[in-house]
Amino acid sequence: MDSNNIFAQNISVDDYASFVDRELLDEINRLSVRLRGAVIQHINSTYVGGGVAEILRSLTPIMRSVGLEARWDVIKAESNFFECTKAFHNAFHGEKIELSAEMMNIYRQTSRANLDLVDEDADFVVIHDQQPLGLTERKPRHKGKWIWYCHIDPIDVDARLWEFLSSYARRCDAAIYHLAEYAKNLGNSQFFIPPAIDPLSDKNREVTEEEKEQILGRLGIPSDRPVILQVSRFDRLKNPFGVVSAYLKLVEEIPCYLVMAGGAADDDPEGQEVLTELLDMVDNHPDIMVLNLPPTSHLEINVLQRAADIIIQNSVREGFGLTVTEALWKAKPVVATPVGGILKQVLHEKTGLLAGNTEELVACLRRLLLDQDLARELGRNGKEHVRKNFITPVYIYNWLSLLNRINE
Ligand code: UDP
Repeated sequence: MDSNNIFAQNISVDDYASFVDRELLDEINRLSVRLRGAVIQHINSTYVGGGVAEILRSLTPIMRSVGLEARWDVIKAESNFFECTKAFHNAFHGEKIELSAEMMNIYRQTSRANLDLVDEDADFVVIHDQQPLGLTERKPRHKGKWIWYCHIDPIDVDARLWEFLSSYARRCDAAIYHLAEYAKNLGNSQFFIPPAIDPLSDKNREVTEEEKEQILGRLGIPSDRPVILQVSRFDRLKNPFGVVSAYLKLVEEIPCYLVMAGGAADDDPEGQEVLTELLDMVDNHPDIMVLNLPPTSHLEINVLQRAADIIIQNSVREGFGLTVTEALWKAKPVVATPVGGILKQVLHEKTGLLAGNTEELVACLRRLLLDQDLARELGRNGKEHVRKNFITPVYIYNWLSLLNRINE
């Protein structure tokens, strides 16, 4: 698949006029003048599944709409490479890793086999996350500016792994982190840009009653009791098991349904194992629905989020947590763990509730189910918080500011 053919629709920043002030759109147009015609190549490790693919699906066309020649390419790799990079991913989040010579070899060889992916003519090459970092071997013979975009929380990264990967990341001219707290010292320029959701995408646009009814019917979601939802790849770091434990306690007191919606990502080989464990734990409970959705289920997830009464994000770690942004955008009360980027989104008692363990999660869910006014108020505030900070026009403005700075 070549993602560069899938952006058929012509969008314009003016399409976002109803969400933001005119001044921001004018500022975007002003910042784009010096960048018109510049080639920017984004490289990551999957077209589908997970936050980075979600970001690139809307960032690439909006960059094109302001005059950049934006393209998005994906490295090709065998399963042994993704097994290594998934272990690396977990080791960024503090899990132990035995970094073997074989793992480093697989990483190096796959990177070298992908070197031709780099666009000779790119003025900017943006490497997303750690999987394609090996491509920076190409950097010394390349004319463009290189940026490493770290989408995860690297604070507890294993020291040996960091030594290995940072030797690649250091070659970049700049690094972007979602939060200032995530900065690593690479000796290059640092920028801090939280990601954003696209309010016009199928994942986030308004839906019609017919779409809602049809999709909920197809997915078998009942409407006679409150629905609690978590949307996430089936990943231990999203702690789906903790969600089920909390639900099983809550449902003893208050009748409600639990929907666990997720799917696979091409670069995540652990998903099936986690899904199997989750299904074992759920044990055909009649009021828990585990939905393993195809990666193109954007409208389905949108409808599920809109149909839910409360949305949970029970992550152990979270680089940013776009599922939280999506939930807040739909004005839903959110209960989430106080970790990583969630803390920038869920301001406790203002835009949602934070729960650090199962007991707290149960208490927050109970409170929201019993206090509709609070649920509505948190949802309203959450939506406004996202509108001001985490939607496409704000994001493209931040990107253009950054590219102008790098080009100075
Ligand atoms: N997502 C999806 N289908 C799924 C699970 C997740 O489309 O089955 C989307 C979700 O809506 C969000 C993104 O994938 O846009 C997940 O991003 P997030 O930052 O929450 O977590 P990540 O998966 O990157 O760790």
